[in-house]
Amino acid sequence: MNQHIDTIPVWDVYRTDCECPLCALAKKNEEEYVDNFLGASVMEPDRRVEVNEKGFCRRHFKMMFDAGNRLGLALMTDTYMKRTIEKLADNAKKAAKAGAEEAQKGFIARMGKKNADIGACADEIFDLTGRCIFCERLNTAMDRYVYTFLYMYKHESDFRRAVAESKGFCLDHYAQVMKAAPQHLSGKELGELIETITRIEMENLARVEKDLEWFTLKFDYRNRDKPWGASQDAVERSVNKMRGGAV
Ligand SMILES: [Zn+2]
Ligand SMILES: [Zn+2]
Repeated sequence: MNQHIDTIPVWDVYRTDCECPLCALAKKNEEEYVDNFLGASVMEPDRRVEVNEKGFCRRHFKMMFDAGNRLGLALMTDTYMKRTIEKLADNAKKAAKAGAEEAQKGFIARMGKKNADIGACADEIFDLTGRCIFCERLNTAMDRYVYTFLYMYKHESDFRRAVAESKGFCLDHYAQVMKAAPQHLSGKELGELIETITRIEMENLARVEKDLEWFTLKFDYRNRDKPWGASQDAVERSVNKMRGGAV
């Protein structure tokens, strides 16, 4: 394993009391991307070219919209739209041609197979909208954090203890760690890791579910005067436990 990896951010999130340390890292990274893209670099040519080619997914567009820098987002989105309109020009011609051909087809020709050209045009548009700079960066960053996590698990007994005492992960990150683990660990180390993360995941899913159940029971008038306990934020914690960073 590479010795020159940054373990500090991973330790930092393990020192906070969170339901998924990897979600906490993802959130921190996404906030940095938003700051970075809407900040001084909004007019940097390299950055603009990348935005123009890839754009953003719905969630990340919303994140930038919510950040409140309307002008920054407008400048970036304007050139992205111009470029997309350019790219769509050929597609629009092909779609118009396919539409015109389809309209000319007689009954017998229409009985044959469906118009593949129209479907191909749609697929090209899906390719255009299917990319996101932030998602691509985040995927790379999260692969790296999972690798760092496994490195630390292998080399630091303090970290192994912190993991064993943590609240596990969201389901997606639990699966991501499990999937990556055999690529970097084997034998006793791998076996112990899988046993530990599985135990804490199941314990903590059950804990959060109990909090959520109590949240629902609190709406029964007979429980009105009983304490909320840990249930007041149980809905958001449950949703985020099931689908990391959802709300
Ligand atoms: Zn997560
Ligand atoms: Zn995205």
